[in-house]
Amino acid sequence: MRKKKYLIFCLTTVALLIVIQLTAAAATKPLAGKKFVIDAGHGGWDPGAVGVNGLTEKQINLRVAQYLRNCLTEYGGATVVMTRVDDRYHSLSSRVVKANTSGADRFISIHHNGSVNPAHNGTAVYSGTNAGWQSRDLRNKVQQSLLKMTKLRDLGANSANFYVLRHTKMPAILTEASFITNPQEEQKLRNPEYLWREAYYIYRGIVEHMGQ
Ligand SMILES: [Zn+2]
Repeated sequence: MRKKKYLIFCLTTVALLIVIQLTAAAATKPLAGKKFVIDAGHGGWDPGAVGVNGLTEKQINLRVAQYLRNCLTEYGGATVVMTRVDDRYHSLSSRVVKANTSGADRFISIHHNGSVNPAHNGTAVYSGTNAGWQSRDLRNKVQQSLLKMTKLRDLGANSANFYVLRHTKMPAILTEASFITNPQEEQKLRNPEYLWREAYYIYRGIVEHMGQ
């Protein structure tokens, strides 16, 4: 009988310690309790910008979006809603409706730039033209973080009247980390590790903006 009581005591102690550890681990995650919408630009019949060697913007947007989701959930402890998870077309209005009914704290749209000039390259992040300070702060911090990774020309933290920025209710940004139409850049964008790093540096900018 005494042995049994001792065993129950030990098991209870171990269970308690596990609960305390799990609670502590959850509490130390910088974005715990926060919700994000990640919007991988284009998809389906809409490839977005296309590289000279055939890489499409829709493919790499989705990859970066998926890596960003993993960073936000696993490292940040956040909740994520994706506007698309595969190569299907979703209208801009359906993306906005999904975002506005999600109860998310922030909206992050992932794109890559295109130009008729193949030499053109650089990093830019946008917020809406009438965006509040939270959007602008998030934009500035993600831009600064991305530049450390891409080491490309700083095309600025800009304002633009993009549909998804104009119609989303929460603070929102749109990233254009580099130009897929630059052949050297296109080569880099084929490397999953490069895309993972892009996502990770977007994540770091987000944590700098609202991490606890
Ligand atoms: Zn795009």
